[in-house]
This record gives sequence, C-alpha cells and structure tokens, in this order.
Amino acid sequence: MKSSPEKFFQNVDLNLWNDWKWQLKNAVRTVEKLTGFLNLQSDEINQIRKVEKKYPFVISPYFLSLINPENINDPIRKQVVPNIEELELMSKLSYDDPLMEKKKMPVRGLIHRYPDRVVILVTNNCAANCRHCNRKRNWQKKDTELNIKNCATYLKNNPKIREVILSGGDPLLLPTEKLKSILDEIFFVSNIKVVRIGSRVPVTLPMRITDKLCKMLGSFSSIWLNTQFNHPNEITEESESACLKIQHAGIPINNQAVLLKGINDKPEIIKHLCQRLQEIKVRPYYLFQCDRVSGTEHFWTPVKTGINILEKMIGHTGGLCIPKFVIDLPSGEGKIPLLPENIIEHKNSTYKFKTYRGKIVSYVDVGVQQ
Ligand SMILES: *Cc1c(COP(=O)(O)O)cnc(C)c1O
Repeated sequence: MKSSPEKFFQNVDLNLWNDWKWQLKNAVRTVEKLTGFLNLQSDEINQIRKVEKKYPFVISPYFLSLINPENINDPIRKQVVPNIEELELMSKLSYDDPLMEKKKMPVRGLIHRYPDRVVILVTNNCAANCRHCNRKRNWQKKDTELNIKNCATYLKNNPKIREVILSGGDPLLLPTEKLKSILDEIFFVSNIKVVRIGSRVPVTLPMRITDKLCKMLGSFSSIWLNTQFNHPNEITEESESACLKIQHAGIPINNQAVLLKGINDKPEIIKHLCQRLQEIKVRPYYLFQCDRVSGTEHFWTPVKTGINILEKMIGHTGGLCIPKFVIDLPSGEGKIPLLPENIIEHKNSTYKFKTYRGKIVSYVDVGVQQ
C-alpha cells in the first residue's frame, strides 16, 4: 500500500507532500478541517468538540490519507480520531499517570525506574496524537525546554545507568540539530553505551526520515530505534522505505505494538502485522497490554486476549515474528512478560509440557534429587 495524497489533498505538490515540515504545518487539528476529509455525522462532530477540549487531536496529512473515509471502524481512524468514550467510560481502574512516572523523576523530564536505564522526555509533540497514548495527560501542557545539562549530570552521577531511552512526545519531531545536541550531551557521559529512541514517525510521518537525519544518527556509536506499528495497514511503501533508510544508517529497529480493542485484538491481525514487520526487517519486540490510562478505557482488552494471540503464534510462525506480551504494571513496578501456560505438571524431576500443537509431552530434568 502507498499513501494517497490525491484522496484528500488533490492539489498538493508531491515535493511538499514529502516534506515533513509541510506535513506538520498542515496537520489536521480542528474539527472544521477534519470534516473535509472524513464523513462525520453532526453528533460525532459535537462529540469530537467535547473530547478535544480535554484531549486535543493532531493528525498528519500522510497518516490521515491512510484512512478509508467510508469505514467508521478503520483501524487508523480509531487510533487518531477522538471518541466520546475517552470522556465517558471513566473506569475506577484508570489513572492519569498509572505508571507513576512523576514519582520516579529525580530530575525534570528524566524517569528512573530500572537499575541500568532511564527514560528522558524530550518533547510533548507528536505527528499524530494516538488516542491510546499513555502520556495523554501531557497533551495540554506547554512544551517546556528540557534541561539536558541537568539530565547529563544525573547520568554521570549514576554510573550504573548504561542506556538512555529518548521518548516524549516524539523525539524525532525535534529539529535534527537540536536532537544532535541532546545526543552529544548524553554520549559524552562515559557510562552511557546505548541510546534508544522511541518514535512513531516511521508510521505517522515517514518523510521525517531524511538523509540528513540518518547521517546524524548514524554518526553515533550505538543508537537503536523503537517504533510502534499497530496494524498491517500502517506498513506502506513510504514507511517501509523510511525503515530501510534507518537500517542503512546502521540503526536496528524494533516494534512495540499496543493491543487495542477493535483495532488489532485478533490473532490473525497481530500475526499478519508481525510477519509483515519481519519482512521489512523490523523485529517485533513487545506487544503491550494497553496501560490503565484515563481516556483509553475503550481500548482495553482482558489479559487472556494477549495470551491467546501468543498461543496462536508460538510454533505456528517463526520466532523472529513473535513479540513478548507485556503488562506495564500500574504503580510503576515494571513490565511483566506473560506466556501461555506451557508447564502442565512438575513432579520431582519430571515436567509435563504442552506443545504448540496441544500435545502433552514429558521431559526429565537433570540435577534434581529424587
Ligand atoms: C519501558 C521502560 C523502560 C524500558 O524497558 P525495557 O524492558 O528495557 O524495554 C525503561 N524505563 C521506563 C521508565 C520504562 O517505562
């Protein structure tokens, strides 16, 4: 699939279409503009107006053009067009900040939860506001400048930290020079060996992956990129070539999909997504249970859904297409990987395992006293 600018933007020059700054300047942020592209009913227009007061929306023209305007259940539409359920479902289980990130911030913008790695939030902006975002609490906040010097001092004073994850918002929305200056500061700290960039621009704004950006990123010793493809419709010619450019610069790409009710909560969809990702050499890393974030309740699925999806994949398709299914526990206790139950019984030194075909097979262990 390829994006179709002509669908919504008939008169746009292709050079402009492929310019990420044009894309951001022309991002759709108002209901008036949105009605020009999607067939919105008047009650839906009123609902979007209500929702955007609390949770504003942004959709790049490119990402918008992937939506089928005839399909109200389009998987991309559901990820970016506000839904009244964001205000109405209000579960008792939801929080603005379930991972308690604010409590784990020793320095403004830096989250330190695990022993050897930290997250630094470098901007609040994105090319598309994902309705399932786990930091949607920050959408209304002014984008205050990150104090990278303070962060670098913290990294230096905590020599156990070896990896920095840049997140936000989307770090790749920063100007290339700005991002370079942040990376310079971070890599200047000798205990930092790896920087991971969490970015959805390969999916929502692939034209952001310019030669200049790739050259800059490739000049650093060890940068990884984690992105978020959630549905096979997002893998277009443009996103594929953006990924290839990043890979040519020596940067491995991993995918962190989020399990979303009504969008990708079916084994066939996740399997197809992950196989397509393997074909474009993007490694499925995590499949996330949707976090318990206020305003995302309509996307939640039971734990069993994720486990069933893995059960239908393990053994049935190659291991390189299979992500870990992970729950990021509320209260910030960390990520827990879950697997289908495969130990049926364990007595003395004998295990009974269930194979991917459902057969029960015994296995005798070593080194256990009878
Ligand atoms: C998810 C996360 C990480 C990275 O965890 P990995 O399992 O290494 O991918 C690091 N810090 C915070 C605060 C996180 O939420």
